[in-house]
Amino acid sequence: MTLLDRLKAGARTLLGHRRADILSPMGPDAESPGARDALSAIQELSRVVRNDPDAVEIYLALGNLYRLRGDIERAVQIRSSLIVRPGLDPQFKARALFELGRDYRRGGVMDRALAAFDEARALGADPEQITFELALLHADSGAFEEAAAQYARLGYRPAQAHYMVRHAEDLDRCGRADEAKALLTKAVKVYPGAVEAWRARLVMAARTGEWRRAGKLLREGLERVPASIRFLLLEGLLELEAPAPRNGAGNGASSTADFEEQRCATVLAAVEALEPDLLLQYYGALFLLRCGNREEAGNWLAKAMVLRPDFWAARLELLSLSMEQQHLSPVFRSQLEYFIEHARKVKRFVCGACGLRREHTFSVCPRCRSWHSATFRMSLQD
Ligand SMILES: [Zn+2]
Repeated sequence: MTLLDRLKAGARTLLGHRRADILSPMGPDAESPGARDALSAIQELSRVVRNDPDAVEIYLALGNLYRLRGDIERAVQIRSSLIVRPGLDPQFKARALFELGRDYRRGGVMDRALAAFDEARALGADPEQITFELALLHADSGAFEEAAAQYARLGYRPAQAHYMVRHAEDLDRCGRADEAKALLTKAVKVYPGAVEAWRARLVMAARTGEWRRAGKLLREGLERVPASIRFLLLEGLLELEAPAPRNGAGNGASSTADFEEQRCATVLAAVEALEPDLLLQYYGALFLLRCGNREEAGNWLAKAMVLRPDFWAARLELLSLSMEQQHLSPVFRSQLEYFIEHARKVKRFVCGACGLRREHTFSVCPRCRSWHSATFRMSLQD
């Protein structure tokens, strides 16, 4: 039996035991015979693989498989059993430490992940890969400023700008609005197409009633952001709720109506200055509906339908508008309302890279990790 055959046989035993563990009525148990056998198989395998490059690769891949399955404990055991082997080539030790760091990151044990990456770096692991892992680690643990710094080291500007925005939003929530604004300005300098930075600047201006500034930012943002995702600026503005009226600022209803009017006028002015665009036209109609201007909303939706007759979302709003003008029997009306209500809950956003559908927009796809891949779902078949 060759070394590699022994390794493969050992890996099969190990995976088999684990499956038996999971299927056992007692559930996985570190003290169960299966788990003890698996641990001794790990130790046996680590003896076999020592200093054989091919075998080390397979052994580390086995650990990755456990990590992928969410069995962090077993993945960590695999790395640790290799790391402690006396006489192990430092480059293999560096690889094992690097993977150990990734295991801990996946398991949410951030301090141990950091320590493993530090050791891996000291032993000569690829610094760029480590920087990338550190960026993910800081992003996962909410240390957005540090995540932005790591992405800056990698020269990946879209992600750097994204985490600058996340940090700015944290600052804004803590009442440090001026620092947040300055950071957002910096983020669009780092990456002018940073849709989330333009959106955050726009939302901050709208929230404080600075409509001239909001209009300027919207025009600039619509120019700088790639055309496929500029609708996200309008989505961000649409999600913003009318601010609660302050004491002595008149009655709530009129200040909400004023907010809706200002928001709608700002959007329409910016959209009308551009070439006709299906999604911008559709969002314009949504803002008109928010301020109760049904007739004009119908015109905007009709223009959207000319641009793309099978655009379901515009058809849905038109159907809803025309329903109000029809004399329908109560039964028919309630059936129609049921379908319209359900169609409005359709997941409207889809990742252009992997097809993942979501109810909410995203900057990085939760499944394939693509950046800025969110698109509006154009067809219900998408
Ligand atoms: Zn995706």
